[in-house]
Formats: sequence, structure tokens, C-alpha cells
Amino acid sequence: MDGLELLSGMTEWRQQHPKATLREMEVELDERLAQLRAKMLEDMVAASEVADWSAEATPRCPECGQPMTKSGAATRQLTTFGGKQLKLKRQYARCPACGAGFFPSGPGAGAAAGPIHTASA
Ligand SMILES: [Zn+2]
Repeated sequence: MDGLELLSGMTEWRQQHPKATLREMEVELDERLAQLRAKMLEDMVAASEVADWSAEATPRCPECGQPMTKSGAATRQLTTFGGKQLKLKRQYARCPACGAGFFPSGPGAGAAAGPIHTASA
């Protein structure tokens, strides 16, 4: 969905709900805006994600300081302010020395996004 679809979607909804109250319109619009917002965030993060890892030096293990290796991409789920689920594809990093794994800092990494310890396989 993009901004135009949002507008045409609202126009359509309005035609289907000719007696909608202002409150109902507001709720409907908020719902659609939240969806659009989540989609835009996903796109923006995906765009910066690509630049992230390649532009910077190999991240170091927060536990033992060894250079991390890429360990495939993983999908993280975050919830936006609007209560929408965001699926972010992140490059996952793993420490070959101690097995610690984490998502290198970047968009989507917040206070709660510290090192994620996983059982070493
Ligand atoms: Zn380590």
C-alpha cells in the first residue's frame, strides 16, 4: 500500500459507509495510516540495511571482542506505535569464538535490542 492507495481506499470506504460518523472515519483513517506507516518503515529500514554492513568494519563480538562473521539473515518482528507488526530482515552476526549471536546495531536496534544469546549449535 502507498499513499495513493490509502486515499483511494478511503474514498471507497466512504462510499460504502455514507453515514459514517466523524469518529468512525477517524478510526478507519488511523487504521490505514498505521498500515501505511508500518510499510514505509519496513521499506526505509530495508534500504538502510543494505548500506549498513558493507559500509562498516566487521562488527566485534560484544562478549569477547573477536570479529563476528555473517550468519545469514533473520527476520525480526517489531511492533510500531500504531500496533502494526513490522517484519525486518536483519543480517545476523555470530561470533566464531564464543558463539554469541546478535544483530549489529542499526535501524530497529533499540534499547531492548542488545546481544541475543543463542544456544551454540
Ligand atoms: Zn565472542
